[in-house]
Amino acid sequence: MVELMMEEENIPGVLGLLCGTILALENEPVPSVHGLTDETEFTTFLANHLFGKLATTTTYTISEKKSGKKTKQCLCGKEGCTLTGRYGDTSIGNPTVWHGSPDIILNNSLPIEPITEGSGGPDGKLGVVVHKKSSSLCKNPQMIAETIVFSFLQKRLHPERDNFLTPCIGVGFSEFLGVGFSELFIMLYDSEHDVLLESCKIPLSSPTQPNKFNMTAVLLSWLVVNYKFLCTGLTDEMKAFYKADFFEKAGPKLQVYNELLSMGNVAEVNLNDPSLPQYCFKDNSYLLARRRKLKEVVEEVENRFSQAGFSGGD
Ligand SMILES: [Zn+2]
Repeated sequence: MVELMMEEENIPGVLGLLCGTILALENEPVPSVHGLTDETEFTTFLANHLFGKLATTTTYTISEKKSGKKTKQCLCGKEGCTLTGRYGDTSIGNPTVWHGSPDIILNNSLPIEPITEGSGGPDGKLGVVVHKKSSSLCKNPQMIAETIVFSFLQKRLHPERDNFLTPCIGVGFSEFLGVGFSELFIMLYDSEHDVLLESCKIPLSSPTQPNKFNMTAVLLSWLVVNYKFLCTGLTDEMKAFYKADFFEKAGPKLQVYNELLSMGNVAEVNLNDPSLPQYCFKDNSYLLARRRKLKEVVEEVENRFSQAGFSGGD
């Protein structure tokens, strides 16, 4: 796991969040997750009861494309427990390269993705194979793609930051939903130095009290959800020896990753699809109508000038 260190001026605020959450979790057992029907619901439950509580703002966006119940009521079922997040557009990327929709984005800065064996799906392919250093690491292409794209996005949207080492949280399931074993791991990518890292897997439940969160998982979550304040970036050794070789394999597409990624409104179209009508990309009816209207206004103005005795600019 990469070393995450604290910058002194940020300690009081985010440390208060950690202490408050630990105290709250001590006094209250983790609500039951029985009855949740898919991984997105369990990840939403974690965003509401763990990640959001440890962050400086509790807001998060749940992908509106995902299946499952869409309700303001928290899925734990406890009376009065409502979601602090909302359903919306979580699309990221660019249609000409990788694009997809993480299940949850916390505070516009951290993707959270449920990972099950064999998941990843057709939109999980990045188009390149990222070299990793250990065969024991997660091989989920969706998670790798989201982590890489998110780091490039943060670099473009927040060029003022000291470093662009950006995490993504994976929530894994060893058995079906809560009944078995749920665990947490972190993937990080630095789009400035082309380094991809991954943490070990941490059980979410306490080994002695299964209805409570494991404190190691709480601490790791706190470090990650506050990475903007706490992460000081890669060490020199990591920059030199842990290259992911993504820059090389992306080739000319690297420019798209550096300059043309977006968050939200990322259309799911393939620009190379010959069946797509060409006017989609050359002109569209709205722009043509605006252009006609502008021409009419210019002609009207010219007429009035002409009637008032002005020449056309000779
Ligand atoms: Zn709840």
